[in-house]
Amino acid sequence: MAIAHPAGRSNRVRLVRCPACGRKLSTLRVRTSTHIASHLPEDFGLTPLGEIDARYVPRGEA
Ligand SMILES: [Zn+2]
Repeated sequence: MAIAHPAGRSNRVRLVRCPACGRKLSTLRVRTSTHIASHLPEDFGLTPLGEIDARYVPRGEA
């Protein structure tokens, strides 16, 4: 994941590339949060909305 420390702000980090598609966020015409929200959970390696991966359900509840 590409992260940078903005100049003079060592206590903050900035996401440089989208963790889902790898696009450089500074070149987009939309806010970073808008771009991230345009992806689906499966773009980040998660299960689709409404589906539960049984591997992560505690024993006895699956
Ligand atoms: Zn993206």
